[in-house]
Formats: sequence, structure tokens, C-alpha cells
Amino acid sequence: MDTLSTLIAELSPQLQAWRRDFHRYAESGWFEFRTATLVAEQLDRLGYRLQLGREVIKADARMGLPSAEALLAQEQRAREQGALEKWLPYFSGGFAGIVATLETGRPGPTIAYRVDMDALDLDELLQPAHLPFREGFASCNSGMMHACGHDGHTAIGLGLAHVFKRLEAQLSGTIKLIFQPAEEGTRGAKSMVEAGVVDDVDFFTATHIGTGVPTGELVCGSDSFMATSKLDVTFRGTAAHAGAKPEDGRNALLAAAQATLGLYAIPRHSEGASRINVGVLQAGSGRNVIADRALMKVETRGATNEINEFVYQQALNVIQGAAQMHGVTCDIALMGAAQSSKPTQPWVEYIQRQAQGISELRSVVQRREQAAGSEDATYMMERVKAHGGQASYVIFGTELSAGHHNEKFDFNEQVMAVAVKTLATLALNLPSFGEAR
Ligand SMILES: [Zn+2]
Repeated sequence: MDTLSTLIAELSPQLQAWRRDFHRYAESGWFEFRTATLVAEQLDRLGYRLQLGREVIKADARMGLPSAEALLAQEQRAREQGALEKWLPYFSGGFAGIVATLETGRPGPTIAYRVDMDALDLDELLQPAHLPFREGFASCNSGMMHACGHDGHTAIGLGLAHVFKRLEAQLSGTIKLIFQPAEEGTRGAKSMVEAGVVDDVDFFTATHIGTGVPTGELVCGSDSFMATSKLDVTFRGTAAHAGAKPEDGRNALLAAAQATLGLYAIPRHSEGASRINVGVLQAGSGRNVIADRALMKVETRGATNEINEFVYQQALNVIQGAAQMHGVTCDIALMGAAQSSKPTQPWVEYIQRQAQGISELRSVVQRREQAAGSEDATYMMERVKAHGGQASYVIFGTELSAGHHNEKFDFNEQVMAVAVKTLATLALNLPSFGEAR
């Protein structure tokens, strides 16, 4: 433990430097071009075997992909901001995913860690009261901000890579580090799962910082994620003169409005919580024109995959019914999705036992009652479990300057070292898994 502690102490300034660099050049989902090239360069220098881009991301399983023009423009922006040409072609077109593997050559299980790399579509507060601005690392990309801590997650992933390489002689089996794009909107994980990146994984851990967990606390098996589906619905009708020939029109605005009310009237479910939200509704082109086009952004959630599926199917009925009522067409595009997933109890207990030996952690709990969000690492957890492996989702508590997804969001950077130390311990002590159960 002394060696590990010394190593982490040496690494701490580097964790901060990486985090601040990723924060400054924040890149939102599917645009993580610069971030991914820098991560790949670090991992390559350390001697990891790299799988990049299309090898770890199944193209047609990507959800909520921006337009080809936007991807191209952002790739150019990344290039101007120091993305490394050597790696950029792998990630071009929305493929900024990386899996780094360390084969120790000694028999043992495969342990995988997942971190996400994307920022949010949000403008960062550019005022001295906000530490990242004051210290000169606020986002220089308008409309993109690391307001969920994924900059810290990426730095933690790189920190782990360094630690494992330095302590390679003490490890057995195989280590996999998974760097995922587009977690926000739950869009990216499924494409990595479908590329098979966790099919050989015996022990899987996804990591988040913050989320309201107090500083010094670790949640070893967060299980509060709701299954979710994100839909973009486009209604198309027929425009007509609203005064002279209203009967010639097919009103897309009315269909969307009718659908919105119908969606909120979907029944509750006796087996658990459900949610539905229409967050965006845009329609019409002019006061005296029957609206021929409407766009609606909808999300459904459920405490279990079955409950979400119930809400989702009901939502499809409502949307299609409303379209039919007004004689318009509707296109429904799935923009993101995540599952609910229960962590595997023996793995949660193992994480708890290991974490109890980390002096920086004041409180180690298995789970915690939390507001229900969603997270697409659940796809990876479910796949690992389906193949007989064990999976969990851990949360490292830290002070936050504002809630997640807020323009004033920031976290106490010390949490990164604690996370690297704890997560590294899981692999270093893995041979003891199964003892003291
Ligand atoms: Zn997040």
C-alpha cells in the first residue's frame, strides 16, 4: 500500500493537469476528438494494447449522433485545438472510443474499468466566482462544458493506466480500461457493448464522482439508475392558408400538442416508478399558415427495464395515434437509451472490503437512496452479467460548487487521487476475491 500511496502522491499534480486540460477543451458527446487522441497517446506510450474507433464502436448502434457536417466541423475544431493527427483518423466521424488492454502474462481474470469522456451542451459560467474561470481552465468551446465531472473520470482512467503499468509485476490476469464517448443522453455505451468490448470481462466497474455523495464517502454498488429511452419525433403535415383554405392543411402542430397531452396520460405502473417528459416542442412556420412540421423531444423512464418498456410502447401508441388523428406522418428516432441494472452483490462486497482499507475514505457504503437518474454503463453491466461476470457502479463523493449539469459545476480535485487508489486496489488485490465472504 505504501508503494501505491507514494505512486498516487507523485501522480496527483498530473491528474489535476489532465483534468484541467480536458475541462478547458470540453467536447460534448460524439465530438471527443481531441480528448481521445490525447488519451490514446498516453496509453500508447505506456505500452498498452489499443483498440480504437470502429474496432470498439459499432457504427449503427450509436444513438443520437450529430449530423455529418457537425462532426466534420468539430473534428476541424479539435485539430486547431491540438488534437494529435496520428490518432485522429481512428476517431473521425464520431468514433471516439478507446479500449486499452494490459496482459500481465500471468493467469487470472479480466478486470475492466469504464470511464466516460464527454462534456455537456452547456455554456460555462465565465465569472471570477467560478474557480475554473479564475484559474484559467474554463471551457473555451461555447456550448460545451464539463458540468458532470467526466473530465475527472478521464483523468482517473489515465491515472489507473499509469499505476497499473508501474505495478505490473504485482498484477495477474488482464486489465482493460474503457474510455467511452457520449454518455450524456445515454448514447454511447450500447455501441461499445455491441462491438463486444466487455464480452470477455469477469469483473467490471464503472465510476462516477459527485452526484450528491459527501466527500470521503464511497458508494460501492449504486443501483438507483432508471431505464430510459430518448425519442425525437418529427410530425410532417401539409401547409395551407389558415384563412382561405384551412381544410387543405394537415396540422402537425395539433398532432404534436395532442400527443404531448396523451403522453402525460399514460398510466402509472404498479411494479415501480415511471417517468415521462416532453422537454422540447417546436412547430409551425407562420401565424397564417397551417403548421406542416413539428418536432418533439421525449424521454421515458422506468425503475426496471420492463416498466420503461411499458411506458415506451404506450408512448409509441400515443404518438402514432395523434399523427393518425390529424392525417400527418410521424418519424420516431431513438436518440438514446439506458437500462436499469443491479450490481452483483459479491463484487459489491469485495469493493467494500477493499475500500475499507483506504484511509482517505471516511465512509464506505454499499448503496444510498438517491434521486433517480439514468446511466448507460448499465448496458455494459448487463452484458457482463449475462456472460457470467460480475459488475458494479461506484460513486466517489466530493464537494461540488453547484449541482451536476449546472453552469457553475466544479468538484474538489482531490477526489481523483482517492478514486485511482481505490480502483487500483481492486485489481491489485483481486487474487483475494472470494476470501472472507
Ligand atoms: Zn455524468
